[in-house]
Amino acid sequence: MNYLPIFVDLKQRPVLVVGGGHIAERKIAALLKAEAKVQVVAHTLNRTLQQWVSQQRLEWLAQEFDPQQVRSVYLVIAATNDNELNQQVFWAAENAQRLVNVVDDQPHCSYIFPSIIDRSPIQVAISSGGTAPVLARLLREKLEALLPQNLGAMAQISGRWREKVKVRLTQLTQRRRFWEKLFNHPTFQRLTENQQFSQAEQLLQRQLNQDYPIIGEVALVGAGPGDAGLLTLKGLQTIQQADVVLYDALVSEQVLELVRRDADKVFVGKRAGKHSVAQQDTNQLLLDYARQGKRVVRLKGGDPFVFGRGGEELEVLKAHKIPFSVVPGITAALGATAYAGIPLTHRDYAQTAMFITGHCQPDGNKLRWETLAQGNQTLVVYMGTIKAAELSRQLQAHGRSADTPVAVISNGTLAEQTVQTGQLHQLAVLAEQAPKPALIVIGEVVALQPHLAWFGEAAQQFVLTEPQLFQSNNELQSFEAFQPSQPLKKIA
Ligand code: SAH
Repeated sequence: MNYLPIFVDLKQRPVLVVGGGHIAERKIAALLKAEAKVQVVAHTLNRTLQQWVSQQRLEWLAQEFDPQQVRSVYLVIAATNDNELNQQVFWAAENAQRLVNVVDDQPHCSYIFPSIIDRSPIQVAISSGGTAPVLARLLREKLEALLPQNLGAMAQISGRWREKVKVRLTQLTQRRRFWEKLFNHPTFQRLTENQQFSQAEQLLQRQLNQDYPIIGEVALVGAGPGDAGLLTLKGLQTIQQADVVLYDALVSEQVLELVRRDADKVFVGKRAGKHSVAQQDTNQLLLDYARQGKRVVRLKGGDPFVFGRGGEELEVLKAHKIPFSVVPGITAALGATAYAGIPLTHRDYAQTAMFITGHCQPDGNKLRWETLAQGNQTLVVYMGTIKAAELSRQLQAHGRSADTPVAVISNGTLAEQTVQTGQLHQLAVLAEQAPKPALIVIGEVVALQPHLAWFGEAAQQFVLTEPQLFQSNNELQSFEAFQPSQPLKKIA
């Protein structure tokens, strides 16, 4: 983090501005909005600034800058067109340990002004840390359109009622539920939009009279295979409202970044073969947190119901009468194959796709090799790398051809994604080499992978096929896009 975002209360606090032109005026206007006591140092003031001085909205301190002037202020702004003077101001402030901003000169700023979306008292500040002001502005425009105008009114009403609500609802959890319910209430939203504030407050009063029992709840949320963009909207909303998030080893850093900042993040990762104890501990944690009235999210890689033991955890919650909900996620078989360029089904090559796991309960159901070994179908194997040799042997023994195309996708959908392809008889070697987590895909559709790869390194080929690039770069004229190196074998 290059800059710490903070909101500063400048009411009645002195701020020094050096410069009297229109750039200084812009900064002073913002400072006056924040009710700062602005002191200006400049030879001449422009017309607006002169007016503000005569209205006593700001103080014209002196004509010459003197380093002593920075000593009695909280912030300093240098906004002259004299580079040397700006530098002097900068060093005077630095020496006196005052925060200083030399306008449009980022190396000489110890603080910077963000782009602002103002729905006072709600304010959104955006900054690119000086790297891409245009991008920050575009983002501001987008957010500006997204944020309803009644936000400010809702916050104002909330400010007026905060203390009363605290007296009536003594628990933090109760209050949070109350406010969330109110802010999402369509009538409350409409009344504030239409500026019918007294009716909005009557509605608030009615809502406040209701009961807000303290019971926790658990949401089982699928985090998807890695790329945070694959998290569902509902998943995002849910992790943004969580008090505590219990997450697995498979949940990516990117997704964890999206969890509400104040939520407790608890790692409950586990490895194949060491399930039972850890699972009991996880179950107990879920119950404990829920009984404390918390909003618990159980965040699992991919989809919670696909080889994720989600069902088992819900059974425990059900038995203890804890309310729960489930937010599905994109399972690895869908995410990793999509990003690798392997369509799971294809009219010419596979009419069936099966998801199986290489890691079964020791005494559990045996895999039906005759069914799995049939042609015209795609097998996706979760947790399959350790058993890859047996998988390959059994499938061949039951009739699957040794040259059936296979792929091992590691870290699917993440920047580190790798895809290794080969034939069924090579599967054990491919699987052993592959970084983990890795997903095995077996079937004729895998032959399409070299031609349909689009993500990561493979994506660069696409850039070259864009017509404008062909026109502007002669060297690329001989480029042949996506000619299959070998003709694909169609399955009759
Ligand atoms: N519930 C998860 C699967 C959990 S089982 C889901 O729906 O995706 C764990 C296995 O999933 C791993 O051993 C691996 O085979 C596969 N897997 C999960 N994420 C993966 C990823 N990003 N890339 C490749 N394989 C992945």
